[in-house]
This record gives sequence, C-alpha cells and structure tokens, in this order.
Amino acid sequence: MTTSLFMRIRDCFPADLNKTLLETTDGSRFTYRDADEWSSRYAAALHGLGARKGDRVAVQTDKSPAALFLYLGCIRAGLVYLPLNTAYQTQELSYFVEDAAPVVIVCQPQRKADMEGIVKEKSVSGVFTLDEDGQGTITQAALEQPVDFAPVPCADDDLAAILYTSGTTGKPKGAMMTQMNLWSNGRTLVDLWGFTASDTLLHALPIFHTHGLFIACHCAMISGAGMIFLPKFDREQVIAALPRATVMMGVPTFYVRLLAGDDFNADLVSNMRLFISGSAPLLPETFAAFHARTGHYLLERYGMTEMGMATSNPLTGERIIHTVGPALPDVEVRVCDDQGQVLPAGEVGVLEARGPNVFAGYWKMPEKTREEFRDDGFFITGDIALIDKKGYVHIVGRAKDLVISGGFNIYPKEIETEIDKMAGVLESAVIGVPHPDFGEAVVAIVVPDGTQTLLPDDVMNHIKSLMANFKVPKKVFFVDELPRNAMGKVQKNILRDEYGTRN
Ligand code: AMP
Repeated sequence: MTTSLFMRIRDCFPADLNKTLLETTDGSRFTYRDADEWSSRYAAALHGLGARKGDRVAVQTDKSPAALFLYLGCIRAGLVYLPLNTAYQTQELSYFVEDAAPVVIVCQPQRKADMEGIVKEKSVSGVFTLDEDGQGTITQAALEQPVDFAPVPCADDDLAAILYTSGTTGKPKGAMMTQMNLWSNGRTLVDLWGFTASDTLLHALPIFHTHGLFIACHCAMISGAGMIFLPKFDREQVIAALPRATVMMGVPTFYVRLLAGDDFNADLVSNMRLFISGSAPLLPETFAAFHARTGHYLLERYGMTEMGMATSNPLTGERIIHTVGPALPDVEVRVCDDQGQVLPAGEVGVLEARGPNVFAGYWKMPEKTREEFRDDGFFITGDIALIDKKGYVHIVGRAKDLVISGGFNIYPKEIETEIDKMAGVLESAVIGVPHPDFGEAVVAIVVPDGTQTLLPDDVMNHIKSLMANFKVPKKVFFVDELPRNAMGKVQKNILRDEYGTRN
C-alpha cells in the first residue's frame, strides 16, 4: 500500500511544475507547484489539528484556488473530504455535522459564528475559515507549514470523500466515494474525452459537487491541463474566457444562457475542441441551436453523485441527441424491471450500473445501501432508461420523485415536510415544472387548513429561511385538495400538467 488517490494524481502533474494549473478572473496564475506546495501546507495544518487518516473534513467555502488546494491537502493527508453546497442553511448544516462528525470544519468567514453554534456539543476540533480570496484562519494555520508533507498511503477502498445527496425521504444520504472510485473515473474520462496537457478547461461549475470537483478538476490535473477557474457561471466572464479555452464542461442551463445572446458564435469558440453537458437532461432544441450557432455537437454524458460518470457520447463517432451515449469502457450498464430481470434492448426499465466508479454505499445507512444494490453488485440508479441496439442509453425519466433545477437535485419531500409544518397548512405537494433557464423550477401546491390567511410569499419566505435558495418555490398555488390515485398517492403528473405552464 504505497499509493493513494493523491499520489496517483500528483504523479500525473507535468514535469515542469511551473506550468499554469489555474488562471482566475483577475489574471492571477497558480502553477502545479502551487498546488503541490499548498496541498502540503494544508495537509500539514490539518494533521497538526489532529485530523488523521479516515477523519472527515467538512468544507463549505466559496470556490477559489485555495479551496481546490485544500481539497488536495485533505486527500494528501488521507482525510475524507466532505464538500457542502454554499447555499445550505443552518438546519441543513446541523444535520451534516451530526451525521458525518467531521473533525475539522472549514467555512466562509460570515458563517463562522453559525457553525460554532452548530458544533457546540459535537466533537469537532475546530471551525476554521476560508474566504473567496483564499484568506482565512485555515490558510493562516497552513502558511508556515512545510511543503513536503509525505502523502498518506491509502488502500483503493479507503474513503476519499463523502458527498451528500438529497434522499427520497427528505433525509440526505452521504455517498461514500473511495480512492479507486475517484481515480478510475478520472483516468477513464481523460482518455475518453481526449484530454492532454495542451487543453485549457473553462471551469465555471461549483466545486462542492461531483461534476465540478471530481469530473472537471481531476480530468484537468490527470492530464496536466490548465483551467480558467471562474468563481461561478457568469455569462460575461464565460464569453470573455472562451477564446482562450479548448474544453468546457457545463450543465444544460449554461449552454441555454450562452445561446441567449448573439455574441456567442462560431468565431468566439474557434479555439474550442469540446463542449460537454450533463447533470440534467439536455433539450433537443438546445442541442440543435448549439450546433447551428457554433458547428459543435454538445457531448452529453450521464452520471450521478454515487458513481461519477457512467455513460458518455463519444469524442469521435456519433453523438446522438436524446441519448447519453454508451457505458464508459470500465462500466457496465443494464436496464431491469422491478424484479431485477434484465430487459432486452429497447425496453424501458430502471438503469443499473456496475464498475470501479460505483460508490461504496451510504454513510451509516447499511440498509439503504442494501436496498440500492443488487446481489451481483449492480447499483440501482433510480433513473428510467432504455438501451438501444447500438448500446446507447436513453434516459427517459426518473423512478424517484426528483426535481433538477440548474443542475441541482431537489427532493420535493424535504420541502413538503417544511411547508406542511407551517401554521395554516393542511398539506402540500412540490413539483418541478419546465423552466427555460433552470431546466426545471420548484413550484409548491398548498392546501390551506382554513385557520389563517396565507400568501405565496409566506410560504416562499418560510422555505428561504430554512433552505438553500435553489429549493425555494418560484411559485406557490393554493388549492382545496390535491389530486390522488386509488392508492391515495398524490398524482404529481396531473399537477405538472396543470401548473407546468401557469403564470
Ligand atoms: P447528481 O447526483 O446531482 O449528479 O444527479 C444525478 C442525477 O442527474 C441522475 O440520477 C439523473 O437523474 C440526472 N442526470 C445526470 N446527467 C443527466 C443527463 N445527461 N440526462 C438526464 N439526466 C441526467
């Protein structure tokens, strides 16, 4: 056991460590040497704080080069990285801290007091800060640390990260990602998408999610490429950066927004070799408009937190709209019926996947883990799909009640539970309706109990005070009762038909 995810990635760094890894909007450049040295300093600082192999480090910070180096520091020290969406509010954070019991928490400076309140009674050795410029108490602790911290060896099935995903019951589940899960997927994608040291990846995704952190950053670092590292998707900044980029990864919303102005055209992207789309369904209109405007076929791929990428349209070869391509070379996919019987090509069922990319299970949820795996190791994704005769996967829906807004997953149950607790509410149903920008938007249908007058703003403000902004309903409708089927289940399809286009 002389290797680890960190060591494998570090071995792929270019021989010339002065090569640029990150370029930021203010023109600052960070080299591979910076990544190496800062990962050492952060690793040593965390070690000094008592964090040992397998301990969790929870991180809720803005995106910055320092945040990426902190991630590298965690895996260098054999720690388990636990990224948290910056939109999460106190109630949500409290659950993660309780569940994952991190030894160290690093947060935005403005959240420090809040975090300290949360950890008061828990065994956290400290709450540290990191701001969007890379400054904060964790950086102060790292500043004087050595630049040659010896990477901690890890077994392939040791954990490298825990990523929380919303649960169907409303309770988030921590997907345990092993060293090999993350390494194998990055390695495979570099070859599949043809990444080389000559590439410059335009990075506008958040780095608290598998897409922006593991898929994007690992592909760049494993190939020795550079990244234009934008704090977030800002159309103007993306337009300004595109002429210097060769690859972009994004959610469909990014591409819809780029197409919204004429300044996005073939001339602007003449240096680009590849645009990749995923995390939510790509509309055929977007695919067609993108090709008409730029001459590029968007490469759509499919994955999820629990397994990174599982399928991808090809780099060379036919990219077929409405499909997410065949399985990656080291991943197996199949479509099964409810009993787990494998269905023939063309038949619709639940997509299952197996491979070195598939996670080790849900943190502290052995039963939930068992429910979502077949005996032969296939993971039941919950996505409804068919595999055509060419082996291309078509995602046709979701078995689980899930809304994807701007690439973020939202389980309606979590929001319904909070609305139902409000005084004056009898019950509620939360649905996703088509939205031109976000793909889907959250809408709440509420049945008042008649004890008091409620306005849509009351419901929106209540959820806003509790949850991340992307979960706040964009619209609230009041009804006398919810449509239900014979089994008493709310018929969300009827609600979607009724409220999908209403203003
Ligand atoms: P996440 O765990 O946030 O990465 O979300 C995973 C879910 O996003 C999957 O289970 C799918 O429902 C959905 N998803 C990801 N990529 C695609 C895609 N290309 N087309 C349709 N749905 C997708």
